Amino acid sequence: MASNRLPNREKIAKGWDAFADVVPGDVAAAMGALGLEILSEEYGEVSARCPAHLERLGHEDRNPSFSVNADHGKFNCFSCGFSGRFAELVAYVLGVEHGQAVAWIRSKGTVAAVTRMYEEREPEPERKKISEASLALYVDPPADELDKRGIFLEAARKFGILWDPKHSAWITPIRDVSGRLMGWQTKSSGYVRNRPYGVKKSETVFGLHLTPPVPGTGVLIESPLDCAVLATFGVEYPVATFGAKVSAAQIALLSRFRRVIVWMDNDEAGWRSAEYVGWELHKRYTSVAVVTHEDLPWGCDPGGYKDADGNTVLLTSKQIHAQLERAMPFSLMRW
Ligand SMILES: [Zn+2]
Repeated sequence: MASNRLPNREKIAKGWDAFADVVPGDVAAAMGALGLEILSEEYGEVSARCPAHLERLGHEDRNPSFSVNADHGKFNCFSCGFSGRFAELVAYVLGVEHGQAVAWIRSKGTVAAVTRMYEEREPEPERKKISEASLALYVDPPADELDKRGIFLEAARKFGILWDPKHSAWITPIRDVSGRLMGWQTKSSGYVRNRPYGVKKSETVFGLHLTPPVPGTGVLIESPLDCAVLATFGVEYPVATFGAKVSAAQIALLSRFRRVIVWMDNDEAGWRSAEYVGWELHKRYTSVAVVTHEDLPWGCDPGGYKDADGNTVLLTSKQIHAQLERAMPFSLMRW
């Protein structure tokens, strides 16, 4: 992959902002160093399998949909919509902050540096180690943010839900069944990201480590944050799958409950998921009831819904308990 591409200074001369838009001298080589397998390099586009696909769509990118422009480093996946500038790709794949991603690109940097890289391959930067100390920068969620979602602080604390003051984002720890920290999810408006990159959240169920060895009735929902909403209203064992996609491993974990009330979102993906989960648990002799969303609008979940003006409407305690009480036995559901 000898570089006949523009050296960085010419990119800068062409008007690329060197700081905001740092591009490696050899984009394909940098992609290789990130562990992305280069599948083709044509017409100035380097294609590979999309690294964000699994997280965004729940499956690997089988028909490569992802390409990076070899000149300006912008990337795009036409299937899942993962796109941005090269530094964002580096930050995502390595699970590092933007500044570290820029430093990493600079270390590959110029054409001269790329030549040197071929002579002595630099070791990849070490991924951040995950320990409880990783959460040390985060604080209790502020009162106004808790209010917006109808969450009591004690309920947030019960689930270890925190707040990133620097990015104004919710931090939801991802723990295995024994409570060991695997990583965490960062969530702000329209943005969800998992740390570290590739954390196997589909192998655990949020909140499960807080349930006793033989728990009675669990309430299964999609969103970890909404577990704190349900706990605020006294629901005993809310657990969450991190989305509508439920894995076989999660089904196995959920079958420890004697009974599960399935409350997936009131949308197409949620209903498909409810049917799948219900059937799988039913087969495993776990008693299943399904929340019908009667009297609740389309698009609603335990965290509420948007009204016609786009304002969030929270559910009342009465509405939440009514949904749980009226949940229909799986065998009576007509799918
Ligand atoms: Zn993708």
